[in-house]
Amino acid sequence: MGRLGASCDYESLRNVRISENQARLASLGLEKTVSELRSIASPAKPEKTTPVRKYCKRIFVSTSLRRSDRLKGISGDICKSNSLRYSERLREKSVFSASKLNRRILSYGEGEEEAKRPANAPLLDFDTTKLRPSPEVLSRRCDSKDRGSVYDPIFGICCHFCRQKKLCGEEDCKRCGDLDMDEQCLGKTDCSACHSTNGVLCRGCLKVRYGEEMEEVRENKEWMCPHCIEEKGINPYWICNSSLCLKKRKMVPTGIAIFRAREAGYKSVAHLLMDKLQNAAKRRK
Ligand SMILES: [Zn+2]
Ligand SMILES: [Zn+2]
Ligand SMILES: [Zn+2]
Ligand SMILES: [Zn+2]
Repeated sequence: MGRLGASCDYESLRNVRISENQARLASLGLEKTVSELRSIASPAKPEKTTPVRKYCKRIFVSTSLRRSDRLKGISGDICKSNSLRYSERLREKSVFSASKLNRRILSYGEGEEEAKRPANAPLLDFDTTKLRPSPEVLSRRCDSKDRGSVYDPIFGICCHFCRQKKLCGEEDCKRCGDLDMDEQCLGKTDCSACHSTNGVLCRGCLKVRYGEEMEEVRENKEWMCPHCIEEKGINPYWICNSSLCLKKRKMVPTGIAIFRAREAGYKSVAHLLMDKLQNAAKRRK
């Protein structure tokens, strides 16, 4: 400590990111794949493959620390450059499995084994005090109510639709305003059925893409995300219209379809899609 002074914050931030990404990798079971790829990619350099393999083993060690809820004393010497490279390369894939990771880190470590935290109050199991955004930054949090104005890689909560990891823009959100991690975020939804990141939507996306109001969702303790509504067959043709989810069904992402939807008198893009799918189904009959 002290020796590097100003770089301390940067270091700890980086370490947090590294362990976050490693947890993601672990949840995907990708560490092995990475090491295999590396050994294939550089077979001509035996000198280098040995240390690389060592690094991979250490990823495993830090992964179990991440889950153990007592990360505070984690050593800062996790292989830095290499794991950063892994994480960048794999970031895209990690996003797809975010819900899987969440389910894992959401379960409380002590006592309640299977208890799930709501997805709009994800557990941050490390000492966050040094990483808090400055008061100046926090003061512009509510400049945009729909999506929030402050991007934060640690405290932000990623919206399933717009994928922006931001603090919310709700004036009275204790989680984002006071960074009280025991509170649920008021500006992001939590699905009562899956409690996964698939059910996390910001105010703006909730309204434009699904025609719902944050206040109503917050009050409705039985609110479900479009994925769960579809899975349970509650509302036929009510589907998630995020570009990822549409791609998965081989449908064209709707982009700025909200203008088209509103012009045609629909409440949201999801309503427009529901009608389209319904009509297509009728025509097939
Ligand atoms: Zn959003
Ligand atoms: Zn919030
Ligand atoms: Zn759900
Ligand atoms: Zn979706």
